[in-house]
Amino acid sequence: MEIIRSVSQMQQRALALRAEGRRIAFVPTMGWLHRGHLSLLEAGRERGDVLVLSIFVNPAQFGQGEDFDSYPRDLSRDAALAEEVGTDIIFAPEASDMYPRGYATYVDVEGITSVLCGASRPGHFRGVTTVVTKLFTIVQPHIALFGEKDFQQLAVIRRMTVDLNLPVEVVGMPIVREKDGLAMSSRNVYLGADQRWQALALSKSIAEARQQVAAGESSAAIVIEGVRQTIEAMPDARIDYLEICHQNSLEAQQAIDADSVLLLAVFIGETRLIDNGLLHTNGEGGS
Ligand code: AMP
Repeated sequence: MEIIRSVSQMQQRALALRAEGRRIAFVPTMGWLHRGHLSLLEAGRERGDVLVLSIFVNPAQFGQGEDFDSYPRDLSRDAALAEEVGTDIIFAPEASDMYPRGYATYVDVEGITSVLCGASRPGHFRGVTTVVTKLFTIVQPHIALFGEKDFQQLAVIRRMTVDLNLPVEVVGMPIVREKDGLAMSSRNVYLGADQRWQALALSKSIAEARQQVAAGESSAAIVIEGVRQTIEAMPDARIDYLEICHQNSLEAQQAIDADSVLLLAVFIGETRLIDNGLLHTNGEGGS
C-alpha cells in the first residue's frame, strides 16, 4: 500500500493508472476509520482494480465552533486498517495543498442543501461538494462509494455528479451499526459511557417508527411525535432536527409512503449525531 501526500503526485498517478486502462474505485473519508468505512472499502475493492482511500479532515465543511480541531486523527492506525482490506493507495493531503493561498473556487448545489443538515450547518455542504469535486478531479475515479449514514450528503453528491456531468459512478452503501444499533461514526469517540447509552435513542426511535408504520400508521406528525418522546426521554439529548422526507427530493412529507425516510440529528451533550432509516422497509435496506 502506498501513501501519497501530494495533490499533484496523486493526480499524476491516477492519470497514469487510467492510461493503463485500470478502473479506479474511490472512498473519500475524514479518517479515524471504523467498520462503516471498511464496508465502503470492501465494496470498492470488488468493483475496481485500484482502490484509493482519501483521508482528509476538510476545513471547508466545518463551521465556526464545530469540532474541526478535536476531530480524531491517526494516520498510522488508519493505514493499518486500510491495508487489511486491500487498499492500494491512501491519499492524505495537507490542507495547504488542497486550499493554497489565493484559493477562491467553490461548488454550490442549490435546493436540497438548504434543508436538514444544510439548515443547521450553514456552508457545510458547500465545503463537502467543493472537496468532493476536487477529490474527483485529483483521484480520477471511475466509481466512488459513499455511506447512506450521511443520507443527505449522498443525495447532494448524486445531484452534483449529474448536474456537472462528472464521469463518476456514485454508489451508496447501507449504514453499518454497532451490535446494539448505534450507527458507527468517528464522532462516537466523543461520547462518555452514559452518553453512549443515551445515543441509542436514535436507532431505537427509528426502529419504533418502523414498527408504527408497519402497524398501519401513515401520519408523519404522529410518528414524529413518538420519535420525539423517545429522544427527549434522554437527559442529555437535544433534537437538532427530526423529519420525515421523500428519499429522493428530501421534501418533508405529511403522509408516509414507500419513499419515506426518517432523518434525525440529535446532540447528546456536545456531540452531534445523525441517523436515518427508510420507514417502509419490508425487512429490506434497514439503513
Ligand atoms: P466520514 O469519514 O465520516 O466523512 O465518512 C466517510 C464516508 O463513510 C461517508 O461516505 C460516510 O457516509 C461513510 N460512513 C460513515 N459512517 C458510516 C456507517 N456507519 N456506515 C456506512 N457508511 C458510513
